[in-house]
Amino acid sequence: MYDFQTLKGKKILVTGGAGFIGSNLCEALLEQEAWVTCLDNFATGKRENIAPFLGNDHFTLIEGDIRDLDTCKKACEHKDFVLHQAALGSVPRSINDPVTSNEVNVGGFLKMLVAAKDAGVQRFIYAASSSTYGDSESLPKVEDIIGKPLSPYAITKYVDELYADVFKRTYDFDTIGLRYFNVFGRRQDPKGAYAAVIPKFVMQFMTHESPTINGGGEYSRDFTYIDNVVLMNLLALSSDNTEALNQVYNTAFGERTTLNDLVQYLKEYLAEFDPKIADIEVQYGEYRKGDVPHSLASIDKAKNLLNYNPKFSMKDGLKEAVTWYWNNLK
Ligand code: NAD
Repeated sequence: MYDFQTLKGKKILVTGGAGFIGSNLCEALLEQEAWVTCLDNFATGKRENIAPFLGNDHFTLIEGDIRDLDTCKKACEHKDFVLHQAALGSVPRSINDPVTSNEVNVGGFLKMLVAAKDAGVQRFIYAASSSTYGDSESLPKVEDIIGKPLSPYAITKYVDELYADVFKRTYDFDTIGLRYFNVFGRRQDPKGAYAAVIPKFVMQFMTHESPTINGGGEYSRDFTYIDNVVLMNLLALSSDNTEALNQVYNTAFGERTTLNDLVQYLKEYLAEFDPKIADIEVQYGEYRKGDVPHSLASIDKAKNLLNYNPKFSMKDGLKEAVTWYWNNLK
């Protein structure tokens, strides 16, 4: 889909490469003919996500945990770049078990940073999060205006940014943080207590269950299709603009959609496969702790410094995602 000639032959470690975003990054890097190593402990990732790559001689799997420094060091040996995606996602998961989220998202992050620096990795690109905006009410979100964190997960992702910044100051180690905004698309897990809203609702509509919206449905999100996120990572890897290094970037499309509108689009697109879905009503439940009311990114910084120009609007991406779920999970 994308053409980044400079990545051909590069040795790139993708942590969390068996997960939703990580497996899409592995796939895109293999298309660029890079040498890809995936480090994953399958905490939430799936073997089926990487099954198609196992026969590719450019792909290596290391099954291991980022909480183990020796594992991180082994994975970083001889790598040009790291795309660090491994973490425990989900705000509710971090509220239920803040200790484990911190051990993986902060402790594991720090071990990966140390291992990458010591191995002489050129650039460390990591998954940050829009949750870092916390209780800041300003819209659209611009990178240097953040509020107080609203969940343990948000703290972990902010601490990662602080560590990355300090690694530049103290060790002259180059990083780029990508604050992802509600990413969705193929291979995102629709099952489990911590499933994200889009795959969860798609699955429920497909099985004729009535999804429950947390709250009144007026909350809004900058839902971001996976191919825009892949593009951002490829740009961060290959940019030769030194000013673009050691920054954090909103990674989004730059439009917001309410939960109520999202449900309407999902029903419309899924009804093309199964007309009965158009008649399914949604339920409304309690508001969820830790949720921010509205989220909308300014993507100007990424446009200016990384030439980011996302191709997929939320609706275009949603059509792709719905078709993928219908063909793969029905
Ligand atoms: P995911 O759960 O599908 O992927 C995370 C991967 O990390 C999984 O494969 C999991 O097995 C692996 N992992 C977890 N703990 C590990 C450990 N201790 N050692 C090694 N591997 C481990 O989630 P995702 O949606 O693909 O998220 C990828 C990254 O993007 C995460 O850092 C997440 O916090 C961040 N992020 C995601 C979103 C989103 O909307 N999906 C938004 C903001 C930030």
